[in-house]
Amino acid sequence: MNVLFATTEALPFSKTGGLGDVCGALPKALSAIGVRPTLILPAFRQAMNSGQAIEETGVRLEVPIGRKKVMGELLRSSLPGSDVPVYLVEQHGYYNRPELYREPDGDYVDNCERFVFFARAVLEAIGRLDLGTQVLHCHDWQSGLLPVYLRTLYADRPELADVATLFTIHNLAYQGSFWHWDMELTGLGWEHFNWQEVEFYGRLNFMKAALTRADMISTVSPRYAEEILDPPMSCGLEGILRHRRDDLVGVLNGVDYSAWDPADDPNLVANYTVDNWQEGKGTCKRALQAEVGLPLRRDVPLLANIGRLADQKGFDLIAEVMPRLAEQVDAQWVLLGTGEPRYEQMMLRLAAEHPERVAVRVGFSNELAHRIEAGADMFLMPSRYEPCGLNQMYSLRYGAVPIVRETGGLADTITNTSEATLADGTANGFSFADASAYALSMAIDRAVRAYRSEPVWRQLVETGMRQDWSWDRSARQYADLYEQTLARAKKGEPALASGR
Ligand code: ADP
Repeated sequence: MNVLFATTEALPFSKTGGLGDVCGALPKALSAIGVRPTLILPAFRQAMNSGQAIEETGVRLEVPIGRKKVMGELLRSSLPGSDVPVYLVEQHGYYNRPELYREPDGDYVDNCERFVFFARAVLEAIGRLDLGTQVLHCHDWQSGLLPVYLRTLYADRPELADVATLFTIHNLAYQGSFWHWDMELTGLGWEHFNWQEVEFYGRLNFMKAALTRADMISTVSPRYAEEILDPPMSCGLEGILRHRRDDLVGVLNGVDYSAWDPADDPNLVANYTVDNWQEGKGTCKRALQAEVGLPLRRDVPLLANIGRLADQKGFDLIAEVMPRLAEQVDAQWVLLGTGEPRYEQMMLRLAAEHPERVAVRVGFSNELAHRIEAGADMFLMPSRYEPCGLNQMYSLRYGAVPIVRETGGLADTITNTSEATLADGTANGFSFADASAYALSMAIDRAVRAYRSEPVWRQLVETGMRQDWSWDRSARQYADLYEQTLARAKKGEPALASGR
């Protein structure tokens, strides 16, 4: 089975979040079970500077954008440690920029044009490179126009006639919504600008466009697949999602244990496994405290959080509970993140007020993220919604007990600690239901109490460390899903939506 991943992020080429982890790891796991994946992504500056060997293919593309013709070029590389081919669409004007999607004060104003170009370049590339693609696996809004083009402007291309599309939602809240005049850039006629196709409340919406036309739709956890059928998690798209409910599947992301395993993580001062974690984590905790400037204390619980500073991640809840906790609870906090300036300032203020207990790093550092997982006793993810979430799964393997809000992939991976779950051996963290500071602080209190009981804590850490959230299991589910996608495509196009 030949599968082409059309994505804007794939490690080690480009990443702003979980999408990069997924597209860097899943293809390798698929390749190991006999699926033949290929990747195609924009040649962002980040990708060109990633240190990977990238060569020219000599294939040049010409893509119509509105009334202009824009030239691009295809480059070739591969996913490290595998023979999975990676093609990069080079277009300096669009992709040779400091960031992937945005500048400091907002999204790049020509994002619509940048990803129209990408979508059309991908379809051109399938023929020019003779990829023999059977399933085109599109990821998030940036690739949202692909299923539409395939059934409209490119419908009569023989090399694309049998291509089926799977569209994966990694985060429904980011939809690629543009003003209606951007329709002119797409090359799609205005007849497609209607509520059953690419229009959504008067705007051009890439996410909705994909949901109407993809043969199958998936998202990154079973719980999130249910949650997005209703507001507010549906982000306004409940009509089309309910209409496509039978074609919507949830497949949990996995962890790339070749990058995230304390047993051989090169970023750590000490490696450890479930058999010697107390010693190993003790050493890593001390090193982390030294690195971020906290007192070197072994006896206090160290709570951590790493992530995008966005409303989604519940940073406001952390900021609300922390002043009280930092005063009343003998614990340490290490926070690493970048994002909305107001959250950055909030975090830095907390660190300034409680230098003995709170350390904050504003920035993006993969190496520090690894060291935090290893040094932390607990990992906080009070997300308002979380399509899958990777950090809680990394935390389990690193012995940092997750404290999570019960939503999306967090609900699918974390089993709350109670007498019953301790007795049956399933407890691996703490979860709470309400998105409130009160519920979060109760969960933290429960975790800190459990930390004081050595046998309970050992059981929680060891249960988490022994669990297997590798890609292997998910890759098998994707392989089935690709078969289903081909079968679904043979049945014909999805019927037009009967509601928004
Ligand atoms: P999302 O994709 O919504 O941002 P995920 O938990 O699925 O959240 O994935 C986030 C990924 O990005 C994880 O690998 C996490 O470690 C990483 N990450 C996020 N922010 C930072 C940061 N400031 N520094 C280092 N890594 C980060």
